[in-house]
Amino acid sequence: MNDKLTTKPKILLIYTGGTIGMVKDYKTNALKAFNFEKILEKIPELNQLNCSIETISFEEPIDSSNMNTQYYVLLAEIIENNYANFDGFVVLSGSDTMSYTSSAISFMLENLQKPVIFTGSQLPIGDLRTDAKENLITSIEIASTWENGKPVITEVGLYFEYKLYRANRTTKLNAEQFEAFASLNYTPLAESGVHLHIHKHSLLDRPEENLIVRKKLNTNIVILKLFPGITKEVIKQILSTPNLEGVILETYGAGNANTEDWFVSLLANAIQKGVHIVNVTQCVGGSVILGHYETSIHLRDIGVINGKDITTESAVAKLMYLLGVGLSKEEFKHYFEHSLRGEMTIF
Ligand code: ASP
Repeated sequence: MNDKLTTKPKILLIYTGGTIGMVKDYKTNALKAFNFEKILEKIPELNQLNCSIETISFEEPIDSSNMNTQYYVLLAEIIENNYANFDGFVVLSGSDTMSYTSSAISFMLENLQKPVIFTGSQLPIGDLRTDAKENLITSIEIASTWENGKPVITEVGLYFEYKLYRANRTTKLNAEQFEAFASLNYTPLAESGVHLHIHKHSLLDRPEENLIVRKKLNTNIVILKLFPGITKEVIKQILSTPNLEGVILETYGAGNANTEDWFVSLLANAIQKGVHIVNVTQCVGGSVILGHYETSIHLRDIGVINGKDITTESAVAKLMYLLGVGLSKEEFKHYFEHSLRGEMTIF
């Protein structure tokens, strides 16, 4: 008999920092990180879940504004080193950059067969009206959901305010409301109400292969957000940044941009020099459709990569990841324009 049918799932709770584990410093009135062990003391309800929980914490928990690719590697290594011994992972992180971090982790963990659920909260765990308890308890419940002795979720998710999203589809939209995240281009993977509904048709379904952890990320990239009136000087300066290898060009609407000659030739020159330029829309929902308007045909013609409906956060992660792999120009465009972890819709 499969002993997974008789044993409880083992979940590793990884605390990286963020409001969820913070307390108020009454001298300065600012929130600061506290000892993670206390999180479990604060939520005795965790003992009632049908799983066993172990915890591990960053030595120095961080506000997610201090996240960077070294921390991504640290987090990926914690998961890698514990992958064989645990059935699921819940990552507690600050929400400010959670979409960036969780998107990056989704690319770094190739062939993932276990749940990795990111969560956090808008109010500290000790606050009377905290959203931390529900977010944490349901994330653990989701990570420990099995069917026929196997985890139901086998991808990187982000759980916040009753919804589980595919992490690399999310954007933080609100700094104040409990419903802080949205995934406008992909339906939630699960919703929690009186019952926990997992939308199985929305989940990633991949062949069972061994986990590969990709730790090489290239940070020689920039996000260039267009706005009416942006000057030639600014674009020229940005595109001549030393060592620049990738640009996320945040365009208008369905991927449209200025058609002036100086603009097109600055982009074309950068592409000629080997810089990968990806077209991503500034809109929070919807997709780039290159060639749909006259104002995007020029971008397609000079070889700009079509980011389709990827979020900027996910595009940053994918750019860093694919640059780290070391691909030819054609391969790079090919892989960027295809869905690798469910991050974009392929029409
Ligand atoms: N500033 C905090 C952080 O991102 C906010 C949060 O925890 O949600 O670390």
